Amino acid sequence: MKALVFHGPNKKSWEEKPKPVLQQATDAIVRITKTTICGTDLHIMKGDVPEVTDGRILGHEGVGIVEETGVAVLNFKKGDPVLISCITSCGKCEYCKRGMYSHCENGGWILGHLIDGTQAEYVRIPFADTSLYHIPEGSDEEALVMLSDILPTGFECGVLNGKIKPGDTVAIVGAGPIGLAALITAQFYTPAEIIMIDPDENRLAVAKKMGAGLTINNRSEDAVARVMEITFKRGADVVIEAVGIPATFELCEYLVAPGGTIANIGVHGKSVELHLETLWARNISMTTRLVDTVTTPMLLKMVQSKKVNAKQLITHHFQLSDIIKAYDTFGNAAREKALKVVLTNQAS
Ligand code: ZN
Ligand code: ZN
Repeated sequence: MKALVFHGPNKKSWEEKPKPVLQQATDAIVRITKTTICGTDLHIMKGDVPEVTDGRILGHEGVGIVEETGVAVLNFKKGDPVLISCITSCGKCEYCKRGMYSHCENGGWILGHLIDGTQAEYVRIPFADTSLYHIPEGSDEEALVMLSDILPTGFECGVLNGKIKPGDTVAIVGAGPIGLAALITAQFYTPAEIIMIDPDENRLAVAKKMGAGLTINNRSEDAVARVMEITFKRGADVVIEAVGIPATFELCEYLVAPGGTIANIGVHGKSVELHLETLWARNISMTTRLVDTVTTPMLLKMVQSKKVNAKQLITHHFQLSDIIKAYDTFGNAAREKALKVVLTNQAS
């Protein structure tokens, strides 16, 4: 089969690899029909994730058709259309029993990280019963690719951890796919105002269409001054960090209102300055989380019932075999006006 293989920082190729085989009774082999590229894959390509070794097939998102199942897989059979979760969970360890699948002792985020991933014609999914989801008949597969990672990530790490309530003022720093996923799912809780902050005008325009009441371009405007002005100097009740660099995290520290919450989603590669000299007395909370994907079944229903339009996050389409070109487009997101790219596997 063909697959996108990582060969060290800034080196990747679309090449022939052996088709995966069942290794455990709980495994399934899935033929990928659609997959995508994540901001995390770009971090890996830069060399920010050193556990990813030469020869690894990347990708942790996608949908496909079950090709083969181990004897212990009871919920899925050959031919079933499935959604692949970016988090693999054994369902049996202590963390899984607490619903913290991201820290599963036998799984967690392993796809395209510690084991071969989904940017390939076939993928092996460990603990298939607890790591795959049935795709209901008549579903739009493309929309469901957004459920592998970005929608649950924006929702769980941003919205749930931020404890958004009706009437809140929410500020989201970063209008990339993850920030937009938080914007879409924040609206479940009818906050009074959602402010989107990003230096890219195109992304801010998209955010407006997706429900942001106010957008601030922090390249040309002072975001802190602007947020203070519209919140009567209080700040935002919930501030969501959806970038992952020191400057944006620090911005969140200045934006949060007394009693508020900073919910971090960003993947940070550098340490950030924590301004406890001002925050110590402001009754704030700060949260971090790796997505657990515990809300995937709920989000699947919201997409099915069209309460959530996940497809609006997709801007580009490619054949899976054109994945190198897709990486180039996604890696130059501002120039290409790219959010999520969907890759379709035509080979059978
Ligand atoms: Zn991802
Ligand atoms: Zn587990």
